[in-house]
Amino acid sequence: MAWQIPLADIDFDSREEAAVLDVLRSRWLTMGEVTQAFEAEFASYVGSRHAIAVANGTAALHLACLGVGLGQGDEVIVPSLTFVATANAVRYTGATPIFADIESEQDLDISLDSIEKKVTKRTRAIMVMHYGGYACDMPAITKFAREHNLLVLEDAAHAVGSTIDGRHMGSWGDVGCYSFFSNKNMTTGEGGMVVTDDDAAAARMRLFRSHGMTSMSWDRHKGHAWSYDVVELGYNYRMDEIRAALGRVQLTKLENNNIKRRNLTLLYREQLEELVPAVVMPFKKSRGVSACHLLPILLPPGCDRIGFMEHMKSNGIQTSIHYPPIHKFQTYAKGDPAPSNLPLTEDITGREVTLPLYAALTEENVAQVVRSVQSAVNQVNKK
Ligand SMILES: *Cc1c(COP(=O)(O)O)cnc(C)c1O
Repeated sequence: MAWQIPLADIDFDSREEAAVLDVLRSRWLTMGEVTQAFEAEFASYVGSRHAIAVANGTAALHLACLGVGLGQGDEVIVPSLTFVATANAVRYTGATPIFADIESEQDLDISLDSIEKKVTKRTRAIMVMHYGGYACDMPAITKFAREHNLLVLEDAAHAVGSTIDGRHMGSWGDVGCYSFFSNKNMTTGEGGMVVTDDDAAAARMRLFRSHGMTSMSWDRHKGHAWSYDVVELGYNYRMDEIRAALGRVQLTKLENNNIKRRNLTLLYREQLEELVPAVVMPFKKSRGVSACHLLPILLPPGCDRIGFMEHMKSNGIQTSIHYPPIHKFQTYAKGDPAPSNLPLTEDITGREVTLPLYAALTEENVAQVVRSVQSAVNQVNKK
């Protein structure tokens, strides 16, 4: 399907091509000095002591859980309104995700009130996800966590470049995780990053990233090591030099592209409020500065969402749903303990539709999408 306006698009040009070609010509493809440079630049950008590049965002989340030592018997409070990987990563370690509700129709992030109700003697950590790039209430959540001796992990897959008081999402908690999947604000195809200020957690995550081995091919190639020991049951979660080269160029474009996303988001808000007031556009009042990863809207209650999306499709406009709630998925619904009801999450997940948003979207594109939203809402309401 060739969309007139796709949901997302990447910003690649001759700079990414040249960076990849440099790596190919260097004849060293696996994790080495390009990855180290990417890590150093990323750490400096988000203001964290350590940044560890990994194969994808899910690996980042799993390493975060391993890095802080989660395991069997531990409970981790997570949102249900997120990509399934947030909760899966907790389960990989043997720990149990406990689902909390969102704040409101306007604020789709995890609610501190709901978190408080879910804390038990077994709770070890809170894993937040900054929905669409809109920051969770990190000052309040980290304060609560400190008072209750809980860890805070951040799924910042949507929030690269989001800040509160100048401090980056991903750097508020004990460990922050990013994804560079191809629809994210910066991309390496597949790829991810974990950041932390905790030296011990960083050391554990580096071990787990590479089979639990005490030295790597790169060290041996450089003549720094002849052999190795294996001290943990690790994984191969490494990034490679080709992706790291893409990431370094993408990082230089991020701030500008995020500004474009913010301006486009404002334009959407103005035009939707004027032309389709029946549709809710969340995060009118958001905390800090958003990376504006997604453009979510909520259809009026009872509006036929599939019909709406079909109408958008017939106009050449791609839309999506973020997300079906995790606690309703088969593999979670029969969990022990079975997840409880999350009324706000359940209400909005039936009404949410995500509209196209990417840096190269034009003002004319936004106007076209909004006109199409207007006609779609009118048409499905008539039926
Ligand atoms: C994309 C995404 C992930 C997973 O990242 P991958 O790189 O695809 O493994 C995790 N959580 C959220 C919220 C995401 O959007």
